Amino acid sequence: MSIEDLARKNVRELTPYQSARRLGGKGDVWLNANEYPTAVPFDLTQQSLNRYPECQPKAVIENYAQYAGVKPEQVLVSRGADEGIELLIRAFCEPGQDAVLFCPPTYGMYSVSAETIGVAWRTVPALEDWQLDLQGIADQLDGVKIVYVCSPNNPTGQIINPQDIRTLLEMTRGNAIVVADEAYIEFCPQASLVSWLAEYPHLVVLRTLSKAFALAGLRCGFTLANEDVIALLMKVIAPYPLSTPVADIAAQALSPLGIVAMRERVAKILVERQYLVAALRDIPCVEAVCDSETNYILARIATSSAVFKSLWDQGIILRDQNKQPSLSGCLRITIGTREESQRVIDALRAESV
Ligand code: PMP
Repeated sequence: MSIEDLARKNVRELTPYQSARRLGGKGDVWLNANEYPTAVPFDLTQQSLNRYPECQPKAVIENYAQYAGVKPEQVLVSRGADEGIELLIRAFCEPGQDAVLFCPPTYGMYSVSAETIGVAWRTVPALEDWQLDLQGIADQLDGVKIVYVCSPNNPTGQIINPQDIRTLLEMTRGNAIVVADEAYIEFCPQASLVSWLAEYPHLVVLRTLSKAFALAGLRCGFTLANEDVIALLMKVIAPYPLSTPVADIAAQALSPLGIVAMRERVAKILVERQYLVAALRDIPCVEAVCDSETNYILARIATSSAVFKSLWDQGIILRDQNKQPSLSGCLRITIGTREESQRVIDALRAESV
């Protein structure tokens, strides 16, 4: 038997997540991973690494609980929100039996994590306005243990109707977990569903330090849920999911000063978003720019594949969304610095002539 044949069938057949970093490129304008464009300072206060770290570092958990307005017992910290997505499947889904459900176009890791674990995934495409097809979901819920709803949604940038999520929570009560992926919630904090945890034992909220906190390289994310859910996730998490330096820096980022700095970054991004959207709407090859509540925008562009390639060759790396259902011709552009936005604007203007 070849090594390939020794692997699990679902792993042999798996297409790994095409992360922005894996896709490569030789850019000097990186607008394909929804990162914050500039680095934030930090100090390492813990200089010794001979001891294992705490599994759930107290300072990180307490600071996040305070920031999110929940109890420390309702917080789990992990290696990015991506690990949270996977832990939920490992805790709730029986491989070969249960399924997860999500509504494309949306984030790509829900299917990849399910597939890795050998759990089936089902999709109910979003409606024309990219809101939830509640009837379609109701028809598909048999055997579903987790429904992932990304709000604000990546890559469309809009908030999913809270009223629809409430209907979904009523529909799934006692049968499935509803995961609200709030990776981008700092850009529209009023839309968070965290306050609903008191009403819904099966609601889970995912968060991250990768976006507004400008720490994508840190790999630190959070799962907020009621204590029973957190207790189950604690059974399947790695013994030491965060390294000592990660916990050290995360606790600083979540200090009162860290939160103030984060809010200033968000305000800056919102100004830059307005600038980029207004400029794009004035460029002939840009057919449509979606309203966004996040640090990225989705735009429909004439001959988008050629434009994507041309900008790529100029070192401007965007994210091609062409293959997602209902997103043909769409590119996703992260809001960067003014200079980076200007490079995109100038390049797209040049494509239009
Ligand atoms: N959810 C969504 C919607 C995302 O866009 C991302 C980041 N690409 C994640 C989760 C994962 O975030 P993290 O960097 O914390 O793993």
